[in-house]
Amino acid sequence: MCDGGHSSGGERTRVRSSDNPAGPTAALLLGAIIALAACTSSSEAASTTVVSPTATVPTTRTPEFSRGEPGETSLGDPYSPSAGNGGYNVINYNLELDLDVATGELAGLATIEAVALDSLSSFNLDLYELTVSAVAVDGAEVGFESGDGELTVLADLERGTTFTAVISYSGVAGQVTPNSVGIANGWIRSNDGLFTVNEPDGAPTWYPVNNHPSDKATYSINVTVDEPYVAVSNGLLEEKRAGDGLATYLYTSDDPMASYLTVVAVGLFEEEAGAGPQGLPIRNYFPADITDLERSYFARQADMIGFFADLFGPYPFDSYGSVVVDADFSAALETQTMSTFGRGVLVLEEAVVAHEVAHQWFGDSVTPASWQDIWLNEGFSTYAQWLWEGHVNGPEAFDALVVNAYRTVSGLSLLTEGISPDLAVTLAAEQFPPPGTPPLRNLFNASVYQRGALTLHALRLQVGDDTFFELMRSYTAAFRHRNASTEDFIEIAEEVSGQDLEALFGSWLLAEVVPTMPELGLAPPEESPGG
Ligand SMILES: [Zn+2]
Repeated sequence: MCDGGHSSGGERTRVRSSDNPAGPTAALLLGAIIALAACTSSSEAASTTVVSPTATVPTTRTPEFSRGEPGETSLGDPYSPSAGNGGYNVINYNLELDLDVATGELAGLATIEAVALDSLSSFNLDLYELTVSAVAVDGAEVGFESGDGELTVLADLERGTTFTAVISYSGVAGQVTPNSVGIANGWIRSNDGLFTVNEPDGAPTWYPVNNHPSDKATYSINVTVDEPYVAVSNGLLEEKRAGDGLATYLYTSDDPMASYLTVVAVGLFEEEAGAGPQGLPIRNYFPADITDLERSYFARQADMIGFFADLFGPYPFDSYGSVVVDADFSAALETQTMSTFGRGVLVLEEAVVAHEVAHQWFGDSVTPASWQDIWLNEGFSTYAQWLWEGHVNGPEAFDALVVNAYRTVSGLSLLTEGISPDLAVTLAAEQFPPPGTPPLRNLFNASVYQRGALTLHALRLQVGDDTFFELMRSYTAAFRHRNASTEDFIEIAEEVSGQDLEALFGSWLLAEVVPTMPELGLAPPEESPGG
């Protein structure tokens, strides 16, 4: 998740120092938590109308000889211990969702096409707090068990077979608080509707899912709401059907997507349509009372896409857009092809818009193999955002962003407060841990953004501009619509540059003390008396 208040226009930092350029936004942290706490009660509203799924679930299944084993109930990612499941890989999700905006009542029908990676006697999906009424596999009703965030489907599947599971479910659009981030994921109430926040663990609050970034799949997301509500989701709007006071919006994403990048936002939006490079469709959804100033931050998305395409390779998807939710929510998320912005995060102005555009390459097309690799998302998008700010405001502005980030993460900035160099180094190490190993309970700590971005700048200084941007394009091409690990990136960087970069990445990603940046005359406090 990307939170407001991050240094120099990215996302929220939980810790900050006096010269952090995001200083004015410090209050947003509290604002976001209050907003989230306030939203929790909305999911407890009394239930009224539940619109039932229309498809029927067949009621018989031929018994089969079982040779398989139960699929694993987790993929064992330490940052999200119960997330994901073993034994299969999802190809496509087709979600039919009926949402009562007033009450948060949700009725869903999920059709999941997957391939069995082992011979299975059962497999699991992640699903929180929603009641399953029926499950069918390949057209026949099967048994299931649910609880503790897991749905276990009892079905015998041969290794290598493609199968289709259909799950009927309902409940209240709720929330979950992952240990790795400490704030709520799931459904958040806005002033005129509801929207989802999925990174890292929100998706199972609205559909059964193999909820780990390593299992990307294509999606069709169909949302039915009362008129005049507008439902926004990822991908292309294929169709809007209306009748009997209801409207159904049908969206498709033909490029694979990680579940944490899915979104549904429902509200009384004003739509704005435009075009990017090569006629790329861009559509934005704004609150009806959006100000001209707020709207202006999104005016150059087409230019950003062109700028990043020149640096990092072709834009990876068929459309782009932004949805601004009218909520006291100070975060933005790079939801695939349709970034989500809480209105509160717009104090970060155009920079946060550039950051989410950059994520379409870094995070959305190239998705981390595991959550530990999160700097591949946040460090890269922060660096891209700095490049955009330099493009707009001049090279001095870019240099200032680099130097300010270095001063912040190294502890140099603390010296001006009269703190001793030793203590400054200690405090900085606590606040900005090595970005290659983020703390289990603070995955989105400021270091994955700022020291992550500085890691790329250190790489660029070592290999030179031409090689740096060539290796970045090689990386986005090699892992387009796939998953990459930190090791994958290092391998590409070494291959393209012809250099041994283990020492550089080791010191920037894993060492406690921030390395020197001799090209810029920067060194941590103990080596740089007086700061
Ligand atoms: Zn981000």
